[in-house]
Amino acid sequence: MMNDVFTIALSKGRIFKETLPLLAHAGIVPKDDPETSRKLIMDTNQDDVKLIIIRATDVPTYVQYGAAEVGIAGKDVLMEHGGEGLYEPVDLEIARCKLMVAGRVDEVAPDGRLRIATKFVNCTKRYYAGQGKQVETIKLYGSMELAPLVGLADRIVDVVDTGNTLKANGLKPLEHIADISSRLIVNKAAMKMQHERIRGFISQIQEAVVKNRKS
Ligand code: AMP
Repeated sequence: MMNDVFTIALSKGRIFKETLPLLAHAGIVPKDDPETSRKLIMDTNQDDVKLIIIRATDVPTYVQYGAAEVGIAGKDVLMEHGGEGLYEPVDLEIARCKLMVAGRVDEVAPDGRLRIATKFVNCTKRYYAGQGKQVETIKLYGSMELAPLVGLADRIVDVVDTGNTLKANGLKPLEHIADISSRLIVNKAAMKMQHERIRGFISQIQEAVVKNRKS
């Protein structure tokens, strides 16, 4: 009997590159390179395993609705999505960074309600609510660093790795919200329906993470 198709959702760039060795450990090798191919559905060396290449913020949605059985997504994206319909069984320990509040180096402490520009509106509201503060959020889709420079916002909430981008734009990190890394996510229904296959995949990925740690 033919196996059901097993679809893995992930985004290109850093996550794709750092996920490749983990997939290889699970015996899965894509037939194309997403940086040069325009294919959204990619075949692999295994006939019944496909990769779908989508925007990082869309990965939890495809997995939540079962359009992909599993996916790879940053913790930042998962915190923002809310994680409904998903299991998050493995921290892949890749694409590490921090979710932070940042402001201008020359900032005069703003009085009144803070205005925060971010693509992480839910995370931001939750973070400040936890401190008993109400803030105004302005949703942006990229280049958040610009907002405090042109008076759109007092501060930003964004992911920070080396901090070079903040620095280059006259900003500094102010508060640490969360440590971020990529996670393996699994559709809850698929975990029941394809239990053995998914358990096997999870344990191979777990093994690869441990191996990565040692190398
Ligand atoms: P940095 O090294 O702090 O200058 O980060 C460079 C840019 O990449 C910044 O705009 C960050 O928002 C973004 N970035 C850094 N690390 C990650 C990550 N792990 N996932 C997604 N975006 C990231």
